Amino acid sequence: MTPKHLIFAATSDIAGKVRGKAFPAEQLEKRLQRGVGWTPTNVQITCFDSIAESPFGALGDLLLIPDAQAGADVTFGNGTREHFILGDITKLDGTPWELCMRSILKQALKRLHDVAGVHLISAFEHEFQLRSPPALDNQAYGREGFELQRALCETLMAALETAGLKPDSIMKEYGPNQYEVVVGPSKGIRSADDAVILRELTRSAARSLGETATFTPIRDIASVGNGVHIHMSFVDNDSDPVTYDPNGNCGMSKLTDAFAGGVLKYLPDILALTAPSVVSYERLTPHRWSAAYNNLGFRDREASLRVCPVTAKDPASVAQQFNIEYRAADAAASPYLALAAIVHAGTQGIEDGLSAGAPTEEDLSLLSPEALQARGFVRLPETLQTALDAFAAQPVARQWFPEPFADVYVAHKKAEMAHVADMDVPTRCAAYEATY
Ligand code: GLU
Ligand code: MG
Repeated sequence: MTPKHLIFAATSDIAGKVRGKAFPAEQLEKRLQRGVGWTPTNVQITCFDSIAESPFGALGDLLLIPDAQAGADVTFGNGTREHFILGDITKLDGTPWELCMRSILKQALKRLHDVAGVHLISAFEHEFQLRSPPALDNQAYGREGFELQRALCETLMAALETAGLKPDSIMKEYGPNQYEVVVGPSKGIRSADDAVILRELTRSAARSLGETATFTPIRDIASVGNGVHIHMSFVDNDSDPVTYDPNGNCGMSKLTDAFAGGVLKYLPDILALTAPSVVSYERLTPHRWSAAYNNLGFRDREASLRVCPVTAKDPASVAQQFNIEYRAADAAASPYLALAAIVHAGTQGIEDGLSAGAPTEEDLSLLSPEALQARGFVRLPETLQTALDAFAAQPVARQWFPEPFADVYVAHKKAEMAHVADMDVPTRCAAYEATY
């Protein structure tokens, strides 16, 4: 008997988990049209498999329609073949479902184009850790630390390439058993598809070699976190870059500066969407090179929004490479939702003609709350609850998302918080490490 080849139709949901259903490969053509059946209340399954209060109960039917452009079909060295295709959740009549994260990002990108006539180019930079004890200590950026996992790094980069991503670099990061993997930028929805694919293939590549990878925001508060840094630039309808202006604020064009201004203004309100776990807030503290304030940094890795360096010398290549980096995200967030929140905040900044203001070049944690306020900075929410309250109470941010997203999201996160409410911090970290 030959095993039947199955394709897994998948969605990256509110919990940042990838869920779906498999069908026999010979049905692919049919499934690309008709999808697989899906259930509305699935959106309230938390990252711990508890089910939050749902407006749908047992009612309703949806379709998960795979998108042939977004998937991976990879055979690992141990012979395991993994094949999945990401898709959109629609109603039975084919219109997008309001709580489909991928459709929410498509709407955000459309709004950016409607308002500013530009397309987003972006890339997600990921950090992850292997859960086995490190075979060697003191391997921050270490060659030996890299060599210990060379097989995994080479397997992962090959898997990413097979799936159509553009492997850029991979390294042994600072933390114990921590690695960072970078892929090249993609246009529109594709970069978020890439991020979902990268997380899945990293876990799969590790599994194929007897390791377990976790993207949890932070494993141990005595050490560093696992960040997701989102690099962004813009092109016009002719694909010409419009991010850079040598005479602009930190080299940003007026459009980029306004986008950055919107992101910084609304950062406290969207944080619950980009750093959405309880332990995310253990990572977002000063001196972890993550993000603790709504500040712009010029090449400063403690800033939540950073103007990145470029290696090119000639003006045309500089304009092509120039990008800004959002650092207050982690892999508990669906890449679709995190990017949608950032794009909406930035687009609001363009609509309102904002500016990101002057970059900071100092340790903001040394300033008093009054001194911070006088300069227009705030300490970002320090718990998921306060971040969620900020989002729920911000009418501008709420209405970027279709009804009933805001209420459903808050109910979802309440159930997640309830699951870990009685745990101490190490136990919480362990719970998140096991799910992401
Ligand atoms: N690990 C840091 C974070 O949690 C980032 C370190 C870096 O700059 O790559 O975001
Ligand atoms: Mg890093």
